[in-house]
Amino acid sequence: MLDFIRSDFAQLVAYQPHPGGTSGEPVKSDITIDRLDSNESPFDLPNELKEKLSWTYQQVIENNRYPDGSYVALKSAIAQYVNESAQITDITLDNISVGNGSDELIRSVLIATCLKGEGAVLVANPTFSMYGIISQTLGIPVVTVGRSESNFEIDLAAAQQAINQTQNPPIRLVFVVHPNSPTANALTAQELDWLRNLPENILVVIDEAYFEFSQTTVAQELAKHPNWMILRTFSKAFRLAAHRVGYAIAHPQLTAALEKVRLPYNLPSFTQAAALFAMNYRQELLASIGEILAQREELINSLSGHPALKIWPSAANFIYLRLVPTTNDQTAKLTAITQQLKSQGTLIRQISGGLRITVGTPQENQRSIQRLKTTLESFEL
Ligand SMILES: *Cc1c(COP(=O)(O)O)cnc(C)c1O
Repeated sequence: MLDFIRSDFAQLVAYQPHPGGTSGEPVKSDITIDRLDSNESPFDLPNELKEKLSWTYQQVIENNRYPDGSYVALKSAIAQYVNESAQITDITLDNISVGNGSDELIRSVLIATCLKGEGAVLVANPTFSMYGIISQTLGIPVVTVGRSESNFEIDLAAAQQAINQTQNPPIRLVFVVHPNSPTANALTAQELDWLRNLPENILVVIDEAYFEFSQTTVAQELAKHPNWMILRTFSKAFRLAAHRVGYAIAHPQLTAALEKVRLPYNLPSFTQAAALFAMNYRQELLASIGEILAQREELINSLSGHPALKIWPSAANFIYLRLVPTTNDQTAKLTAITQQLKSQGTLIRQISGGLRITVGTPQENQRSIQRLKTTLESFEL
């Protein structure tokens, strides 16, 4: 280790976006790769929209100029979309902050709240790993509680106890995903009530990365809770993962704090153009949701009769399953299954003692079902 690097970095590991995929050992190049490990949309932009976006690139964007760093047009379009999709009218551009992926906003909010020993973070595992990873790189302590093994609801008694007892620093930020990744369950009425009753000196970040699939949002309650912040992304339903855009919806004083943290031109011009485009053509882009939800049911129905699998209901564009009996440590088998699927060209995510499979195109899903079934058979499961 180079002596000038922070001593705690030796224990940190860099985020591996495709642990079973493009990094690590190569997949045979002569087969089609089904990328079902990152919860992206299986559909690229429609060709005519791609052409319109290319026209913007050719005719409007000046490559020699810095991007518009105010994001007024994009923030206004996002505010309008948020209002429309939650049937509210109170969100304005002052409530919106944009980031280079919602990952950037996760980092900004951690810097703005917990850094310098001022606060710790609470998460309920299994959940999105970036909250913990980014906190660690900033030296922010992460307190974890568990979830029910049967339905993945947060252990609220443990969470409340952690909040009451954590000191030096106290918990100042709670991260939840609605619906959760990797387990695909939306927050329950009881969990939402618990969040509503948290004291106002604790920030609650509700990550709605899968909102367009679940149609569950707390946007209509934001005005009542100045200590809530919603995170959304263009990487999933809006099919723009390549462009890296996410946004936060929050009290204007919180978005102002995020502005102080961000780098001056965090969204490249073409990324802004693509995101604005997605807002303007949202009806066309979101028209694919129905098919993805129908395909999700097909995946669940085709696999749920299998005696070796336990599959949970899903409110998102992926499914989560474990091997039966779920009480055993199945890690070795899960690794073998993931590897065997990968060798056939299907990339899925082995995570938290189970498998997370993104809903793909109908052809990809048929291959997922077929390959998973024959793989289980080959292991006599
Ligand atoms: C995919 C995902 C995101 C999106 O992150 P980006 O940086 O916007 O691509 C955020 N939160 C969760 C829980 C996700 O699953």
